[in-house]
Amino acid sequence: MAKISVIGSGFSGLSAACFAAKAGNDVTVYEKNSTVGGRARSFSEQGFMFDMGPSWYWMPDIFESFFSEFGKKASDYYDLVQLEPGFQIIFGKDDVLPLPASMNGIEEVFESIEKGSAVKLRKFLAEGKYKYDVGMKHLVNTPSYSWLEFAKPDVIKGVFRLDVFRSVKSHVADHFTDPRLRALMEFPVLFLGAMPDNIPALYSLMNYAAISLGTWYPMGGMVKIVEGMQQLATSLGVKFRTNAAVDHVIVEGGKISGLHVNGAKEPTDGLIASGDYNHMEQKLLPAQYRNYSAEYWDDKTFAPSCLIFYVGVNKKIKKLIHHNLFFDTSLDVHSKEIYQNPSWPSDPLFYVCAPSKTDPNVAPEGMENLFVLIPVATGLKDTPDVREEYYRKVMKRMELLCDDTIADHVVYKKSYCVNDFVNDYNAFKGNAYGLANTLRQTAVLKPTLRNKKIKNMFYAGQLTVPGPGVPPALISGRLAAEELTKNI
Ligand SMILES: Cc1cc2nc3c(=O)[nH]c(=O)nc-3n(C[C@H](O)[C@H](O)[C@H](O)COP(=O)(O)OP(=O)(O)OC[C@H]3O[C@@H](n4cnc5c(N)ncnc54)[C@H](O)[C@@H]3O)c2cc1C
Repeated sequence: MAKISVIGSGFSGLSAACFAAKAGNDVTVYEKNSTVGGRARSFSEQGFMFDMGPSWYWMPDIFESFFSEFGKKASDYYDLVQLEPGFQIIFGKDDVLPLPASMNGIEEVFESIEKGSAVKLRKFLAEGKYKYDVGMKHLVNTPSYSWLEFAKPDVIKGVFRLDVFRSVKSHVADHFTDPRLRALMEFPVLFLGAMPDNIPALYSLMNYAAISLGTWYPMGGMVKIVEGMQQLATSLGVKFRTNAAVDHVIVEGGKISGLHVNGAKEPTDGLIASGDYNHMEQKLLPAQYRNYSAEYWDDKTFAPSCLIFYVGVNKKIKKLIHHNLFFDTSLDVHSKEIYQNPSWPSDPLFYVCAPSKTDPNVAPEGMENLFVLIPVATGLKDTPDVREEYYRKVMKRMELLCDDTIADHVVYKKSYCVNDFVNDYNAFKGNAYGLANTLRQTAVLKPTLRNKKIKNMFYAGQLTVPGPGVPPALISGRLAAEELTKNI
């Protein structure tokens, strides 16, 4: 039995641990924080339970496929409900666009806004389904060491249908004219950390995922997925060490021989480093064993960081549903303030999740649990005053657009931003979602899964393949575990 160490207990680390244990290894996960889950941790205060990071459960097939590898189903660990509507976009006080769960309902909404758009939507989603099927089968399930890995008949035959060389923005614009429909169709790719004009139209597969496969919620919160995966891992023999920050990695004879944790050496036969790649390399590894230089990392386009408010409100807010996107200001201006001229945004778009609309267990009766998220550039100067300024701004806009008083009813509030991402997760420049999935940072062009100089070290997580998001993190962990198992 080889001794395998996994640094980090986010979704990629949990997935890697499960697959490495299934392959017959003795696996230990080292996590610097006091609880597992990484960016998907949770906390409870005053009767509210807040998921700290992810809130959108998309691509249920990927979660099912993960659990099925172990003879399990997602329902063995949590109850999923489909949200109806999936989400709503708030363009103005009286201009709200809900996305129904059923295709008929969605087509009716499109048709009511733009004549003839339902047929175009069907075509758009059919193309999205093709990209999703090919993408999930052939593009994400490979370690991406070389382009030759993608030389599969389906990929070669459909290379033009995969739409790699034009942007999501122009693809959407070819189909829809109304600015609200365009915003709706561009929104899903924001999950990949880049703007619609800078991301290949291949990723309109996200529209298929968001619209056709539905928006789901695990009752009890996203943390139920973490708990389920930890339970599965434990049943496979994985050991978890929390409050165990890895200080550095020990390399002997060109191989990882141990980790330095809390002042002691922990011997190991192989390593999966699933914390932020930049930190794993630049801080834990001696310089001669790193894949990349500091300049390489500086040159990368990072997905945004974010300013989050976890808010408890002592009443219900009628206008909100589970997922609410406040798109009443300009996405173009906001995106320039994230990517082109990194600065605190002048009038940002924001997102509010109110899981208490679906789940009675996340807030005291009659109250609302709100997760308010403003995407911001990485590396910004993060101070209590700035956070407070934005809290007041978004509260004011939320009150106006929801036509309700909210600020006076807030009974709990906590903020989270750039400095917390750095301190809690060793996140480079405080990034929230890893690297942007731009064309220049796709597949082989991403930081590679393997350490090129050390045979028994692999990376997993949102800075390597396939990319940011919970489903890709599950896949990344599997790829890293499979590759390491072949190499020890
Ligand atoms: C606010 C927010 C909202 C999001 N929303 C969504 C969403 O709705 N849907 C979706 O699919 N995705 C979403 N994402 C993205 C998704 O959460 C991430 O892509 C995914 O959880 C990343 O998992 P990971 O394993 O790569 O990294 P992490 O979750 O960051 O795990 C890495 C772990 O490594 C640990 N670590 C770091 N350094 C060390 C060290 N030296 N020693 C020991 N441990 C260490 C960290 O503490 C951390 O626990 C969101 C992310 C954020 C931040």
